[in-house]
Amino acid sequence: MRRKLAAGNWKMHGLTDSLSQIDSLAAAHPAPRVDILICPPAPLIERAFRRASGHAIAIGGQDCQTARSGAHTGDISAAMLKDAGASHVILGHSERRADHGETDEVVRAKARTALAEDLIVIICLGESRAQRESGTTLDIISQQMAGSIPDDITPDRVVIAYEPVWAIGTGLTPTPGQIEEVHGHIRAHLTERFGLQTAEAIRLLYGGSVKAANAAEIFAIANVDGALVGGASLTAEEFSPIITALEAS
Ligand code: PEP
Repeated sequence: MRRKLAAGNWKMHGLTDSLSQIDSLAAAHPAPRVDILICPPAPLIERAFRRASGHAIAIGGQDCQTARSGAHTGDISAAMLKDAGASHVILGHSERRADHGETDEVVRAKARTALAEDLIVIICLGESRAQRESGTTLDIISQQMAGSIPDDITPDRVVIAYEPVWAIGTGLTPTPGQIEEVHGHIRAHLTERFGLQTAEAIRLLYGGSVKAANAAEIFAIANVDGALVGGASLTAEEFSPIITALEAS
């Protein structure tokens, strides 16, 4: 049985004041039936971790370096995330792939480094609008999985997030049938590569314009084990009903 996960990606949003959202979330979900994760910007990680301690809210990073340490000005290592209190890290988000030219190989190297630090990695995949329109979505997903996911994984340390690029921050979402098709494809790819037992234990998140209004419909789809939420995770008021919908699914 896969434990569901509601993960919030604050991206480059949030200052000290935003930490009060963690208090509100903790108050609204004292004993959640799903895992709750907040990935704030790096400067807030340690304070977010302290704020969340004693509550069922995990804290994660949004990226890490491929190298374990070294001369990489401005970068953050997996060990630093762990040291600051993070238990998870998002890798290969489409904004990192677009803004920083991250390839599947880079994402795989980052995943290996993060796994070596005992972090849970959330590896993001997703097609562009042009790829969706040209009918190559499943090929792209296969390519990204083959390139981004390391060979030596343990299922409880890896989460896959399907995030169609055209759905992120746009208010657009795929149809339930489209989400089901991609998630089924991801599960089948994992089964072929890692075997049924491992594949069945890996959680698959959907991400892209998840809101309170569409959460229940998305969580009812086969092979959707939770969500990676951007904009609607920034306030407890918006994120809390998504968590409640996941608990009810
Ligand atoms: C994201 O950043 O991963 C995301 C899904 O953003 P949004 O929910 O705002 O579309």
